[in-house]
Amino acid sequence: MRDVVVVGAGPAGLMLACELAVAGADVVVLERAEQRSPFCRGFNLNARSLDLLDRRGLAERFLAEGPKVPVTSFGGLATPIDLTQLGWDHPYTLGIAQTRVEELLEQRAIELGVTVLRGHELRAFQQDGESVTINDGELTARWLVGCDGSRSAVRKLARIPFPGTDAANHWLLGDVVPTDFGAMSFGVNNGPNGTVVVIPRPGYVRVLVDDPVTDRTEEPTLAELQSIVDHNLGRHVELTDPIWIGRFSDAARQADAYRSGRVLLAGDAAHIHPPAGAQGVNLALADATNLGWKLAAVLRGEVSPDLLDTYHSERHAAGARVLLHTQAQAVLGATDSRFAPVRELFAELGELGQVRRYLAELATGVETRYDMGAPVEDAHPWLGRLAPNLDLLVDGRPTTLSRLLHGGRGVLLDFAGTQQVTPWLDRIDLVHASTVDDTGLSALLIRPDGYTAWLATGNTHQPGPLTDSLARWFGAPAVCAA
Ligand SMILES: Cc1cc2nc3c(=O)[nH]c(=O)nc-3n(C[C@H](O)[C@H](O)[C@H](O)COP(=O)(O)OP(=O)(O)OC[C@H]3O[C@@H](n4cnc5c(N)ncnc54)[C@H](O)[C@@H]3O)c2cc1C
Repeated sequence: MRDVVVVGAGPAGLMLACELAVAGADVVVLERAEQRSPFCRGFNLNARSLDLLDRRGLAERFLAEGPKVPVTSFGGLATPIDLTQLGWDHPYTLGIAQTRVEELLEQRAIELGVTVLRGHELRAFQQDGESVTINDGELTARWLVGCDGSRSAVRKLARIPFPGTDAANHWLLGDVVPTDFGAMSFGVNNGPNGTVVVIPRPGYVRVLVDDPVTDRTEEPTLAELQSIVDHNLGRHVELTDPIWIGRFSDAARQADAYRSGRVLLAGDAAHIHPPAGAQGVNLALADATNLGWKLAAVLRGEVSPDLLDTYHSERHAAGARVLLHTQAQAVLGATDSRFAPVRELFAELGELGQVRRYLAELATGVETRYDMGAPVEDAHPWLGRLAPNLDLLVDGRPTTLSRLLHGGRGVLLDFAGTQQVTPWLDRIDLVHASTVDDTGLSALLIRPDGYTAWLATGNTHQPGPLTDSLARWFGAPAVCAA
């Protein structure tokens, strides 16, 4: 029996496989497609994704692949937000094709011993108290995770409701080569009958137009796209060599439950939202890094499966924020003249420095704060947040917090040399360290995903005694069975 079957070799599935494997789990990824699709949906990794990859020593591989764009946009703002002023570790968005992100993650997963089975579709499963049987016995695993995209078979077979908002807008997308690259400018091209958005890509352009078709059962064609572009612009702009002609919409939905017994969901299988702000890959990676270490700890028998309910509570809340702001951006981007006053007012607000920081943190997930058990109003600003990548001295040698997390274990940074955690030393690393900059902290407990679970400043502890936080996240000293 395998430990975990992950369904889907997209960003969520591959990142999850890496996280599980680094924590010692035996993982197989089932992917329906024989080969990775040549169609590239996303083109970016945001600051938080880079932070998370950095906590596993992977950021450099990705950073070598594309340009660092030091600004981000938020629908409705007249000017992009300058990220360089925000004091982040990665004050930029990395331009990188989603297909390349997947290749790098798959490489890493294979390095870690993950089996990726292409040409294998999940069609059915049954679960009981001990295991999940896939495709009438083709495979058996202790846990099944559906990372199988927006139309997730796992979600449907598990009968997990997927409520939300139906699409109000539909777009046609074409990755094409114009005969004359100068015939349309990059950005929004306004014509007498509509608009054509043009995004530069290496050697081609991505063209986006409103999709007027109501029957979307047929695959769109280049001829269809060509005719809409010409109509909107009121002139002919020759488009050739289609790489991908596709459709997408602004539907927004979220699974009611990210867990049903031994079955879990991550990535698009758990949530879909309007494309504003280019979120999906980033959200998928954040789901995976939250789930991986928890599921691995359950598999090792260190914690009760109840820990997985915190995966639902933490990531459902984070996903709901993405639905909120992408839907808000969709409204701000709508051409409906009734929204003009809202756009105008929002644009005024967006000139305020504090608002720009707030929106940047919201749109990148940097704002994400998990409930560690302390009232937020009294909590230290680091509690529940991704801990800063502290510069540290350990045994007189310089290192960083990020480096200490590469192995995927929890870390207790003990700056005062006073913490007693012997019963948990098989699960976390106790590191006697000093910080290069004064943090005012005497100790800090970091979960394997890099989030601060507990901290001490002098005699004050948050959210309570250290042993309570250790038990909550790493299990009671007495071992419980999964
Ligand atoms: C036009 C467009 C542009 C986008 N641009 C961006 C962007 O710039 N930035 C960004 O962050 N996001 C972007 N997104 C969103 C992003 O592409 C998705 O959110 C992301 O791919 C989700 O990753 P995932 O791993 O959850 O699912 P997917 O990438 O959809 O992967 C699911 C995988 O599961 C496989 N699968 C499905 N069913 C089964 C089955 N039954 N058995 C086995 N395998 C199965 C599929 O073949 C697929 O490989 C864009 C989306 C679209 C449509």
